Order: sequence, then structure tokens, then C-alpha cells
Amino acid sequence: MKKVLILGSTGSIGINTLNVIRNFPEEFKITALTINTKIDLLEPQINEFNPETVVVKDERLGLELRKRISNKCQVLTGEQGLIEAASSLDYDIFVGAMVGFSGLAPALEAIKRGKIIALANKETLVVAGELITKMCKAYNARLIPIDSEHSAIYQCLEGENKNSVEKLILTASGGPFLNKKKSALSAVTVKEALSHPNWKMGNKITIDSASMMNKGLEIIEAHWLFEIEKDKIEVVIHPQSIVHSMVQFFDGSIKAQLGLPDMKLPIQYALTYPSRLANNYERTSLPKIGSLTFFSPDMEKFECLEIAYKVLDEGGTAPCVLNAANEVAVDKFLKGKIKFSSIPNLINTALDKIENHKSPDVETIFECDKKTRELVLTLG
Ligand code: MG
Repeated sequence: MKKVLILGSTGSIGINTLNVIRNFPEEFKITALTINTKIDLLEPQINEFNPETVVVKDERLGLELRKRISNKCQVLTGEQGLIEAASSLDYDIFVGAMVGFSGLAPALEAIKRGKIIALANKETLVVAGELITKMCKAYNARLIPIDSEHSAIYQCLEGENKNSVEKLILTASGGPFLNKKKSALSAVTVKEALSHPNWKMGNKITIDSASMMNKGLEIIEAHWLFEIEKDKIEVVIHPQSIVHSMVQFFDGSIKAQLGLPDMKLPIQYALTYPSRLANNYERTSLPKIGSLTFFSPDMEKFECLEIAYKVLDEGGTAPCVLNAANEVAVDKFLKGKIKFSSIPNLINTALDKIENHKSPDVETIFECDKKTRELVLTLG
């Protein structure tokens, strides 16, 4: 039986991870669940999965939960609680499902203990990819992606020699603005940006999909995860989101992984790797889908893609600046403070103004993240 810690159990990936685990009560046991604030959602999860420990990042809500559930399980609070859970509890798999940069410190603790890291939190790899991949090797920790594209590539690479890879082909749905003109992007509303055609996800990632920064982050994520140069990572628009990504080998052969757009599959693969477990999820019917289409992205319209490639060239703390600036810019857009089309502008300004540090350690990354956020908060 594998013991699982879920960082971010009330978010979209966390809930889906519990949906998977619910199907395999003989295979998995929940050791710990952590959340930021949604204690009303956590309470039924505690009753159903009986974790030994839960962590509520918000201290006040953590105290309230402790009163509500009396002695059902240990309740830790704050950033310190997250680190304590990751560094001291008994678990085999660390599921990093928390949104944004705050998942980094607990993930590093899990890596230091040589755990299996099932990573949905792509920001962690974007800001600290160099450090994390180095640490995973040093501590013998295995990183398995939950992001559907990277899970697809991971599956395509099974049994293959990495040196025979010619390129990775990341597919992208193109989001809700695929058929809009660039000039129309300044007038789009929050509601329009939140209507993703294929995937039901959290707000931050849905906006990132609309700007295609999500794919930009995934290019950086793929670079670190598969140790492959940026020139060998291609993005292809595939509006049906059935082919989750592909690998082309140096003999010209292309392997792809297909499935319905449902995160349960990549989550289950990460939890059960290297085995596959039978399930009764809905199956992909290719005759029903009919046609699968592919075309190249409009790099001029989706500026965020170009920025991601540029940032990989710059290296050092540039990806950290990109990520922090994007998080603040998306939040500003969601609150109606900036236009959708200003998101790439704010990121570019931050990249121009914040100094780049090569081969950053954790402290440098945290400092860079903080500086960038402070700067972008002042930008309009
Ligand atoms: Mg993805």
C-alpha cells in the first residue's frame, strides 16, 4: 500500500487525485492533506480519507478547523506546517497540486527525502527547474509529471533511449481566443477568458491557457523535466485536446499519447507508475471524435509563447521573474485592474527591470520572486 501526501487537496488537481484514490482503496492510503483556506471542503475529505495530519496554511482558519474536528487528526498551520508535513510525515508519494510558487519549499523537503514527487504544480519546475533536477539526482527522488502534456511525453519515452529523441511536440488547445484577432484581445472580459473550450480547471491556469502562457510555462517545464534544449521543443495547436503530446525520434517516427481531456488519467499514471491499473473511466472513441486537427500557433498573437522561449535563452532567474510577474498580472486581470492584453507587457517590463542571477540557490529564487511581485504590483 502506498502512502500519499497531497499538497493542495481542495484544488482541481487535489480533488481529482482523491477521485482516483477513491477507486483504489487497496492501493493507496492518505497520510496528509494540505490546503490554503477551504476548510469547509477539507472537512468531508478528513471524514472520508482519515489522514493522520492536515495542514491549513491560513493560521486562523486552521485554528477554527481544529475546534471543529476535535481529535480526528493532527492539524498543523502556516507555511511552517507545510514544511513540517513534507519533511517529517511518513509517506511514499508527494502530490504537488498547489497552485503557484508556494509549492516549492515543501517539494524541496520531499525531494531531500528521496520520495516520489507527482508534480502538477508546474510553477515549481519553472522557477527552480535547474535546482530541482539537480537535487532529484543527488537525493535519488523520482519526479513524475501530472501535467497532461508532460505525462504524455513521459509515457512516450518509456522504453526509449533519450539520445534518440529529435524533438518533443507539445500540443495546445489554443484556448478560448484561438480564433480572435490580436487587436480584439484588449477588450476581452474575465468571463470570456475563463471559458476554456475543453478543460475544466482552476482560474489561474484557465487564464494562462487563454494567454497561452500555460504552454509557455510547459515549454520551460519540459526543458527541465526531459533535459532537452528549447530548439527541440515545438508547440502545435490541436483544438480537440485528444493527443496530449508527442515525441519525434531521430528515425522520423512519432509516438503520441491519446485520451479524453480528463486529469484523472495522468494523475493515476503518476500514482501507479510503472504499473497501469484497470479503471472504468470513459474511453476515447475515435470514430465519435471523427477528426483531429493540428496547426502552428500564431506567435505574434500569443506573445507569451515567445517570452517563454526568450526566458529559456536567458536562463538563471529569468524564468522565476516570468512566473512571478505572470502570477501577479493574472491576479490583476481577474480583479479587473488590467486588460487581458497587458499581461505580456507586465511580464516583459519585469524581465527588463529585474537583474538576472545565474545558477540561483533557493534564497536567490525567493528573493527574486519577492522583488518581481513588488515591482509588478506597482505596474498598471
Ligand atoms: Mg498541461
